[in-house]
Amino acid sequence: MESLQFLESSANQLRAYANSFLSRYEPLALFLAFPFSLVVGWFLQSVGHSVHEKGLKTTVLGFIMCSIKFVPGVKNYIDAEKKKVVDKLQSNSKSKRGNGWRTELPVVGLGVGVLEKMREDKRNDVVWQGKCSGTVYIGGSETEGHFSLINEACSMFAHTNPLHMDVFHSVVKFEAEVVAMTAALMGSQEKSYGGQICGNMTSGGTESILLAVKSSRDFMKARKGIVRPEMIIPQSAHSAYDKAAQYFNIKLWRVPVNTEFQADTASIRRYVNKNTILIVGSAPGFPHGIIDPIEELGKLALSYDICLHVDLCLGGFVLPFASKLGYPIPLFDFTVQGVTSMSVDVHKYGLAPKGTSVVLYKNHEIRKHQFVAVTEWTGGLYVSPTIAGSRPGNLIAGAWAAMMAIGLEGYLENTREIMEASKRIQRGVQNIHELSIIGRPDMTIVAFGSNVLDIFEVNDIMSSKGWHLNALQKPNSIHICVTLQHVPVVDDFLKDLKESVQTVKDNPGPISGGLAPIYGAAGKMPDRAMVGELLIDFMDNSC
Ligand SMILES: *Cc1c(COP(=O)(O)O)cnc(C)c1O
Repeated sequence: MESLQFLESSANQLRAYANSFLSRYEPLALFLAFPFSLVVGWFLQSVGHSVHEKGLKTTVLGFIMCSIKFVPGVKNYIDAEKKKVVDKLQSNSKSKRGNGWRTELPVVGLGVGVLEKMREDKRNDVVWQGKCSGTVYIGGSETEGHFSLINEACSMFAHTNPLHMDVFHSVVKFEAEVVAMTAALMGSQEKSYGGQICGNMTSGGTESILLAVKSSRDFMKARKGIVRPEMIIPQSAHSAYDKAAQYFNIKLWRVPVNTEFQADTASIRRYVNKNTILIVGSAPGFPHGIIDPIEELGKLALSYDICLHVDLCLGGFVLPFASKLGYPIPLFDFTVQGVTSMSVDVHKYGLAPKGTSVVLYKNHEIRKHQFVAVTEWTGGLYVSPTIAGSRPGNLIAGAWAAMMAIGLEGYLENTREIMEASKRIQRGVQNIHELSIIGRPDMTIVAFGSNVLDIFEVNDIMSSKGWHLNALQKPNSIHICVTLQHVPVVDDFLKDLKESVQTVKDNPGPISGGLAPIYGAAGKMPDRAMVGELLIDFMDNSC
């Protein structure tokens, strides 16, 4: 109430001031009318633009939120509230910077003693074995089996760097073979492509996506002269496309999915215009594990002569095998006409060390736009394929070791195990009547929400039991991405989930301590810019 009165009296003061000013300087007012109308015109155009892009509601809200911060006291109040939320997030994630962390070199080095210190830190980490959605995809214990094999392979090549092609032939060959073997899983051996599919290893799914977007942008510029590039992605596509859009100055349209939570080809079509360079489909999408209709998207891409990226970061080392095993998997690979690039993570279901992914292109003409050549540097002629300059040869060696050690039969067996485990989890979730599964999961991600309970409260109780699941929004839900770590603990998971649902049912209202109220509030906050600021503050205080 008080601030309203304040607003009103300030507005009156302003008006009085403007009137007295104008009455004194009438000729000047006439003179100023022209630039003033230009400014008003510019303002109206920006508003129109914003309404077109973000919708009327978001624009008006953005304007109100922006102006309200100029009212004395409001900004301080908002900042204090923001700090509370950030502190809460931090206390839950245990990621607050400081707390006795070292800030300078030890004067006397610890020598091999450092290893014992590291073991001590590692012992203080939380238990992740069998408890995390996704995260660690290799099965079994960390000190044996495939884990040990990867460690040994990596340590053998710890000091190599494929930037120096003339020195480290072995890792250059490993990279080429990892790419070729991955491409073969994606249909490169099909005759229709004449062996054109090519690619590179990258540091992860995000880098593969960044590169595919960058190459598509420059390919479309060369081919169609597009200089104000736009791309269209389904709401379920990974956040890496937002990163790409921001880094590479591309306008991003994130459009709603259909009732099956798949990319909606018709709504994507509505956003296609002469500046469109790229559309995206995921196989499957990270949130709900559902495969987008890649064939339909391929037709759309072909009909407008634009690029289509298929995101197989999660599915690349599952779908080809699931298909062979007879699970109903729609087409997802380069055999679909119109697909121009792909991202396939080896460090997820490929069971390679973290920091390994493959970006693939339909042909060399597109991939050439990924490379950077520098001709005028005093350091010599320079050409580099991916974002990093020096690259870790050990990870390439580790990925090669993983693929060669497991082989086709190994991946088939792994796929069967995780597909069956996720079917059991799906059935178990269906048997908990308060919960409902989002869409029809195609692979090994099971997402579920509730119409009767706060699903984020259920997530908090699961967290207190040691589980690390993913919280999703639009609609509010959580998911588990099933890995080999979960195969032996499916029943434990379902038992804990059932108990957690019961606990939330028995204790209506927020159960103190968890993040549920924050997730709930963040989902409902109409000012999305503010939610973004909260996330940035959280990150700024965490690293
Ligand atoms: C994991 C994932 C990514 C991003 O991969 P990072 O390796 O985390 O960079 C992109 N898309 C999908 C579908 C993913 O699951």
